[in-house]
Amino acid sequence: MKKGLLVILSGPSGVGKGTVRQELMKDSSLHLWYSVSMTTRAMRPGEENGREYYFVTPEEFQKTLKEGGLLEHNHYVDHDYGTPKAKVEEMRQKGYNVLLEIDVNGAEQVMAALGKENVCSIFLLPPSFEELARRIKGRCTECDKVIAERLEQAKREIAKQSDYRYHVVNNDLDSCAKTIASIIRKEAAND
Ligand code: ADP
Ligand code: 5GP
Repeated sequence: MKKGLLVILSGPSGVGKGTVRQELMKDSSLHLWYSVSMTTRAMRPGEENGREYYFVTPEEFQKTLKEGGLLEHNHYVDHDYGTPKAKVEEMRQKGYNVLLEIDVNGAEQVMAALGKENVCSIFLLPPSFEELARRIKGRCTECDKVIAERLEQAKREIAKQSDYRYHVVNNDLDSCAKTIASIIRKEAAND
């Protein structure tokens, strides 16, 4: 059995990573398995424990981290986020292309640990900064202070896009998802 790819999808909060991921997951021919992260942030309306994230207390997060159970982790706008390690390797061994939706710091850790050449890294860009602000505000899930922090963080994240192998603009959702699907197919065929 051929080992699956490790695909990293990053981009500023609100760019549409979750939306694009849902489109990609509909395509069973991509053999994708989405790695659900662990976070200490509060659940948003409509989210479910174990689907968007494993929602844990700061104590539970620190315990998992200390035990070496995270592939990477990051503190982002007052909260911790991390990728549970064991499942990622298990699913790749089973032939699944594992999708990590993580921030630039986490991606840096994974690329340093596994080697840049062994990771299919994709950075999602907004059509414009104004459109990014509109999407974050339109989602309406964070208060004004958090939105301002996320926009500042977005500038820092976009500055790190050169670490990634692919750069895709999320303007039209359908064509963005199709572009990413073709990147994954090409990488899987070359691997
Ligand atoms: P992220 O996971 O990157 O934080 P989301 O997937 O939650 O972003 O998307 C943020 C907002 O932008 C949502 O309201 C979503 O519906 C919207 N959105 C995502 N992609 C597009 C797109 N291509 N065009 C317009 N709106 C989009
Ligand atoms: P949100 O709170 O909007 O769901 O996510 C905030 C940021 O944390 C996003 O940039 C998202 O990609 C990132 N993130 C989510 N899960 C992880 C993770 O497991 N590790 C890291 N490093 N970042 C994550």
